[in-house]
Formats: sequence, C-alpha cells, structure tokens
Amino acid sequence: MDRTEFDAIQEELLANIKTAQVVLIGIGEEFNESFQEIEQFPQLTSALEAVDMNPTLEWTVPFLERLYLEQTKDGNQIEAYRKLYELVKDKDYFIITTCIDEHIKKTGFDLERIVEPCGTYKMLQCRAGCSEKLYPAEDITQLVRQAMIDGVGLDSLTQITCPECGASLVFNNITSEGKYVEEGYRAQWEKYTKWLQLTLNKKLCIIELGVGMSLPDIIRWPFEKVAFYNRKSSFFRINGSVWHMTEELKNKGISIEMNAVDFLRNCDLSHAN
Ligand SMILES: [Zn+2]
Repeated sequence: MDRTEFDAIQEELLANIKTAQVVLIGIGEEFNESFQEIEQFPQLTSALEAVDMNPTLEWTVPFLERLYLEQTKDGNQIEAYRKLYELVKDKDYFIITTCIDEHIKKTGFDLERIVEPCGTYKMLQCRAGCSEKLYPAEDITQLVRQAMIDGVGLDSLTQITCPECGASLVFNNITSEGKYVEEGYRAQWEKYTKWLQLTLNKKLCIIELGVGMSLPDIIRWPFEKVAFYNRKSSFFRINGSVWHMTEELKNKGISIEMNAVDFLRNCDLSHAN
C-alpha cells in the first residue's frame, strides 16, 4: 500500500469514527506479545536459563512473563494503542481483545470499556478447574521477583497449590495448562453484551484490528454478524494476512491488507478530531 492509498483509507476511517455514535473495537492476534524482547532484562534472561537447566522450574515461566510485562513501558503494540486511544477517546466505545498481556491498559483507555475473554496475568486459578475461584497472583509474583533479585535462585520457591484440591495454581488465561476458568471476565462480558445490544439502531463504526482465525468465534464472526444486522454500521477489517471480507459484507466492509499494529503506528492524527 502506498502513502496516497493509506491516507485515503485513514481519512475514511477517521470520518467514520467522527460521525459514529458508538465504536466497537476488536483486537486480535497481531497484537499478541511475543516476549522476544525479554532478553533486554538480564535478570529475566538468567532466570530463564535456570529454567532451561532445571525443568522442575517450568512453572515459574509465566511469572517471569508477567514480570516482563510489568516492566515493559513501550514497544510497537503500546505505540499502536496510544494512536487508537487518540482516535476514539471521546467516543462511546467498547473494546474486546483476545490479548492477555494488558499492554492496552498502559495507555489512556477506560478499563470499564475493555473485556478480555482470554484472561490475563492478574489472577490465578486451579489448574484442574475444581472451582471457579480465583486467587491474587501478587504475593507469589513478588517471591519470584525477590528470588531473582537476591540471586537465591528460583529453586528456593515452591509452586502454590489450590486450597480446595491441591492441584497447582496457574494464571487465569487461555495459555495456561489445564481447564480455563471463565469467571475472571464474566462481569465485563455482561457489560459488553448489554452495550452491544444498545448499538443495534445506532450509527456504529466497527474496527477489527489484527484478528486472525485462531479464535474466530470471539471477535471475527460476531463482528461480521453485527455489521450485517446493523444497517447504519461501517466495518473496517485491518489485517496483514486474513483481510478478506465475507460475501455478505463485500459492499459494506472495508478490507485493509496491512498489519494492524503497523497501520495504527502509521496513522497521522494531526487531522483527527
Ligand atoms: Zn482445585
């Protein structure tokens, strides 16, 4: 895509956001944290090396990931989120994301308007899923951090277990082994579905960002349905690999063949608002 083409699409997107009463945003795989930059932090790198040499420490890896996420203050995704925030900050918006890294919360978004159905690194759950109970991850994360800082080694720690059944506790997100407990996002999900129901007769701008085919029933397919039924909606699908529009939406939706993180980072917001 050359700059003229890009500018035209950007202008169309901005115009649609501007006139929309409500903006629905979906964020998918292209925004996932890859943890490739983890080696920028020497303590985390040596901790991961220790895990490599001692497989019984494998359980600490998600905690090291969480520590990395806590320390990361910039990067392409966060830069893209900042642009997105500038685009929609004054609108009635709702965001559904399959990301579990919470980078989006490092920008100005209203946390009441975000739902994360795939979980995060905030709470722990029973790996066996024996109950719906969630447990704060803060204390054990601090112990992992302290073990790294003091150099006492991760093998001085013991993995915490479920008080109900004795199975290990893992992070309440879809990448953890075991049965995912859905309780963590239920309250926000209810808010989201109520908000969505009220958009039916409103002028709605739908922005689907980097949503691939790994979990299509969370964002991709429902968004297509919303775009189809809301006659006053506009639908932007931005994706570097699966940008195609369905037959039903061919005349309505706008497909943009570009990685969504790059698209937002390239947006020139001097004309926005
Ligand atoms: Zn249990």
